[in-house]
Amino acid sequence: MHHFEYRDGALFAEEVPVTALAGQYGTPLYVYSAATLTRHFQAFDSAFDGLDHLTCYSVKANSNLSVLKLLAGLGAGMDIVSGGELYRALKAGVSPDKIVYSGVGKRPSEIREALDAGILMFNIESVAELLKINEVAGEAGKVAKVSFRINPDVDPQTHPYISTGMKKNKFGLDIENSLEAYRMCADLANIEPIGMDCHIGSQLTSIAPFMEALDKLLDFYGRLKDMGIGIKYLDLGGGLGITYDEEEPPHPTEFGQALKEKLTGVPLKVILEPGRVIAGNAGILVTEVVYTKSNPSRNFLIVDAAMNDLVRPSLYGSYHRIAEVTPKERDSLTYDVVGPICESGDFLARERALPAVNQGELLAVFSAGAYGFTMSSNYNSRPRACELLVDGDTVTVARKRETYEDLIDKEL
Ligand SMILES: *Cc1c(COP(=O)(O)O)cnc(C)c1O
Repeated sequence: MHHFEYRDGALFAEEVPVTALAGQYGTPLYVYSAATLTRHFQAFDSAFDGLDHLTCYSVKANSNLSVLKLLAGLGAGMDIVSGGELYRALKAGVSPDKIVYSGVGKRPSEIREALDAGILMFNIESVAELLKINEVAGEAGKVAKVSFRINPDVDPQTHPYISTGMKKNKFGLDIENSLEAYRMCADLANIEPIGMDCHIGSQLTSIAPFMEALDKLLDFYGRLKDMGIGIKYLDLGGGLGITYDEEEPPHPTEFGQALKEKLTGVPLKVILEPGRVIAGNAGILVTEVVYTKSNPSRNFLIVDAAMNDLVRPSLYGSYHRIAEVTPKERDSLTYDVVGPICESGDFLARERALPAVNQGELLAVFSAGAYGFTMSSNYNSRPRACELLVDGDTVTVARKRETYEDLIDKEL
């Protein structure tokens, strides 16, 4: 079942025509489907039934408070990467003992906030961070529960900017340094190692790299046991891909099945950190064609959404399906779909065959629910878009459109 579908020639978000939403709330406009978020979370989480596990939604994919509240209500834990995300997760009502904290550059103030909140664990990415967490925990009179993010040096076969588990990446610790880090914990009064962690990249379209990483982690687990170090958690990160175009990523059940085969009898609680697979296809970005223009080499659709609203095409050359909100019979042309920003890198699609739409018509940019709004900015002094959460025929303004006053609010 799809919750963004065409009915009688018009795109709907669940029970609401997208045209009506654009009419009332303006464009550019993010629209999320509550039913899709729910279905994606439940399909993912239930794929690991039979394994002792905790699904910690990766907040950075889509951190809107309404989205977080919905997922928290379904029992999701959260994977955070900053103090700001901790703040959001707590505001959304997530139980602190379901929060894991990843990231290479946690600052002392952020560490303290997470200790005070009582999170489940820190995923530590360097020895320097380990020492800092021990120090901050000492000052707070607490013991920090930690795991180390192990960089298993596997190639996730994804875009280089979102591959994180190779030697050349800044993330985690290599195997030998990880062993040394666990050893060091014995001498640190305010550290308790309770898990191991990895996250090898994003938008993975095959199970194989996950399994290769898992094998290395299980081997590592054996070495830890030999050293007399016992742990309870195995955090496998996020990274499961979605269909933007013609990718055929594995279904979570396939991933779940493969994990169960490897992990039966292994006394570890598995943590999963899905982001994109939950939120990506649960959102669209609606935009209006401001102008059309052609020159001898190109046809352009100049739309009112830009790289400040959705940076993925500019940053990664990502593909997002684009379609009319109200499709009509007409010829198609090859277009560059571009925004108003003063950068040639400002595009949503290049050399894309699209119906010859007119000025004033609406387009939907699909698969925009993850790494869409969260990566948006105010570049070119563009107020950030409105976000709506649609649930059946109920529309919630999950975030108001920014105003010009918002743009200068913090300035002298
Ligand atoms: C970004 C991130 C995730 C989520 O990745 P997805 O590809 O969106 O599933 C999970 N864990 C960590 C540590 C991350 O940085």
